[in-house]
Amino acid sequence: MKAALPDLQMILAKKLNRNLRIAENVIFIGAFAFVMYNLVSTYGVWMYQSIKGKGYLGAIIDPFVKHQYFVSLVSIIVILNSTLVLWEVFSVLIRLLRQEKNDTKQGYAKYKAIFNKVAVHYKASFIAMLALELLPKLILFHMFWNWLPHFQKFQLFTVNLKWYSWIYGYLCYELASWLFHFSSHRVRFLWCLHSPHHAPSEMNLAVNWVHFFAESYYSAFVRLFVLLLLGVNPAMFAAVISIDSAWGIFIHVSERTIGDGRLGVLHHLIITPSHHRVHHAKNPLYIDTNFANVLPIWDWVMGTLQPLRKEVHTDYGISRELDVTNFSDLYFGELILLYRDVKNAAGIKNKLLYVFMPPGWTPNSSAETAGAIRRRFLKMHPALAVTNRKKVVDLIKARLNGYQAKPKEAETLAPQVVDVVD
Ligand SMILES: [Zn+2]
Ligand SMILES: [Zn+2]
Repeated sequence: MKAALPDLQMILAKKLNRNLRIAENVIFIGAFAFVMYNLVSTYGVWMYQSIKGKGYLGAIIDPFVKHQYFVSLVSIIVILNSTLVLWEVFSVLIRLLRQEKNDTKQGYAKYKAIFNKVAVHYKASFIAMLALELLPKLILFHMFWNWLPHFQKFQLFTVNLKWYSWIYGYLCYELASWLFHFSSHRVRFLWCLHSPHHAPSEMNLAVNWVHFFAESYYSAFVRLFVLLLLGVNPAMFAAVISIDSAWGIFIHVSERTIGDGRLGVLHHLIITPSHHRVHHAKNPLYIDTNFANVLPIWDWVMGTLQPLRKEVHTDYGISRELDVTNFSDLYFGELILLYRDVKNAAGIKNKLLYVFMPPGWTPNSSAETAGAIRRRFLKMHPALAVTNRKKVVDLIKARLNGYQAKPKEAETLAPQVVDVVD
């Protein structure tokens, strides 16, 4: 009787898993129809209105006439994103249908094969998008704007709106974003909220929809805290967030749509799709790098900027084994694993450390954290560790050593001078 109990548990768990998978697939079909209908109809209406000088065309021209150039720029990026996301989804569907046409499978088996392949590309994105659509109060924009008046009461000083303050404001926003994103990778609990975004096994514009809904609470808190602490004028927030969000979506574009994603010389100046592909890759060289969305400044300063290397092909996803079509695991898996680790840890100190230390940390070792993995890799491949930043840092270090060496020379000279005087 005792031996039969685990068997029964396993049968029940398998059954639950199967039913969960069926429910997920039904939600996916609904989400696909709902999101695509929304996208195509909105795109169609805005395109149609463009003929009359409104819609997309109006969104570019009207602000341009009023000298609100950044609004026009944001509109251009938004139109580009909308066009590319539709292009990507339809091109994947057409490619899969063509592939399956030559397959020997027939009837149900054929449709099942196509469904499974579409699920690999888009299941997580569309279900996550549906969740965000159904829970609009929980997404980033609302949290940020809902909390702004409460945070604003505590702002000690506010900078003016001169042109240089805008540069200051943007740099502060980039710093706030870097801090939010970096901590989301380096604190295990925060990683649980951020990991769904990294789980997909490929890059495409819909990957941008895969966010754990509760992540917005943390990102809004960090951004507001840093921006208001540094005195950034809230009148700048709408412009800054629009640019960051619009470009932040675009950098998820797939290799099928935009080749290597470097965008020519632009990759020296701003974050391009190639930078963000590196961020989504789990290769030891790329892991936990490129946290910025638009400007590479803070990544450069903090030493987390990593350009795409032709010799290291990007391997997308998270480090553990994961079936990307298992949405429950993709969305909640890291939280469940953290819960298990905390439950099994000995003592309150270890339990807390599991929550706050980086992913991969255990009470016995830190060797499997992303930082340790990357350091080990770079030690073994020193040529890949050479970056412009490293050259500058080495130069500064050499200079500083030079300055430190000078007093020694002075010390050796001093007695000679004293000797002469004597
Ligand atoms: Zn990330
Ligand atoms: Zn991303």
